[in-house]
Amino acid sequence: MNDDSSQKVGRSSRLVHMGRSSSNGSAVNPSIERASTYLYGTVEAMRDVEASRAKGERARAYGRRGSQTGFHLEDALVEMEQGHCARLTSSGLAANVLVFLSTLKAGDHAVVSDGVYGPVRKFAINALKRHGVDFDFCRADGSDIETLLRENTRLIYLEIPGSVLFEIADLPRIASVAKAAGAWLAVDNTWASGWLYKPLALGADISVVSATKYLNGHSDVLLGAVVANQATWPLINDMAELTGVSASPDDAYQVLRGLRTLAVRMKAHADHASRLVDWFKAQPFVRRTYYPASPEHDGHAIWRRDFAGGSGLFSIELKPEFDERRAIAFVNALRLFGIGSSWGGFESLARLENAAMLRTASTPPKGHIIRFHAGLEDANDLLQDVAAASQIFVG
Ligand SMILES: *Cc1c(COP(=O)(O)O)cnc(C)c1O
Repeated sequence: MNDDSSQKVGRSSRLVHMGRSSSNGSAVNPSIERASTYLYGTVEAMRDVEASRAKGERARAYGRRGSQTGFHLEDALVEMEQGHCARLTSSGLAANVLVFLSTLKAGDHAVVSDGVYGPVRKFAINALKRHGVDFDFCRADGSDIETLLRENTRLIYLEIPGSVLFEIADLPRIASVAKAAGAWLAVDNTWASGWLYKPLALGADISVVSATKYLNGHSDVLLGAVVANQATWPLINDMAELTGVSASPDDAYQVLRGLRTLAVRMKAHADHASRLVDWFKAQPFVRRTYYPASPEHDGHAIWRRDFAGGSGLFSIELKPEFDERRAIAFVNALRLFGIGSSWGGFESLARLENAAMLRTASTPPKGHIIRFHAGLEDANDLLQDVAAASQIFVG
């Protein structure tokens, strides 16, 4: 089979073949092309490449702009997210920040979701105003965006689902609001990994993803990507060139390798998460679970409409009578869940969140919040592990 994307095959089949090409004797995986300098035979040849790069075209003129290895990954992400072009960045956060820098200037106003990843929230608070950009946090489900728009609003920046509490925003509706307001619409698509949700197809201008998480899938690489539509690509590309955004070819290679198994991994993560959520729902120490694939989740109907599946990340809220000491004891008692940040790897993780700090545009949860990443261990073992640890809530 060749890699002709016009061929009518399923998405999982495309995942195996996208972003690579084969000819007689070529390796299955693209090789790692390490380079700062690219060489040319003549001054004219070098000028030609530099001229095409100046026009915003992708060219191997200098290693900072990327390598052939990185270009393969960009191609795969563009196909996956139905974008126009993509730019790799050294981390997911660098991709998030590139979106703000590319679309805003002093005097503009932005609407930022209250549900964004913590460090993005920190960037908005500490860096936007300092650079003359005013902003407001909207509710993580996007329900109050219209009331926050100003004449100078140029960017609506969402994360869907919201960090930790996984609120679902109605993207097609917000896309028409953004269009009418003349604002760009960007979505952090990391929870769904670019695979289960397609913000650009639903009306967003920019999709940004931390490839550190599911795309790589093995907890050993930091990488991010901005996937842009035709209208926003020149803004993203220009700012990336101006600010020295770059990504390592070795990391791009690892993510390309991880991407091949994304479809099967996501199914297992979602299956394990659903089984854990179903178990937690029935426990007397749990006030609420937060998982969009669960029917009682507030955003479930929209999630069903817009997403092709669930991921492994969910949270539980303890009943308020359980204090922090018990919440800590529970997490410490888990044996198969590592205690750590990030997620999307093969391993299960648990993290005690600071519930009071999670939201400011809506009421934060009252009970302690524990965020779980359901990994690829045997689901029955994971269930047994949480059941054993939960003994600390008894008596
Ligand atoms: C982890 C994460 C990021 C940042 O990615 P890094 O690669 O760790 O910098 C951005 N957005 C979301 C939703 C994330 O979970």
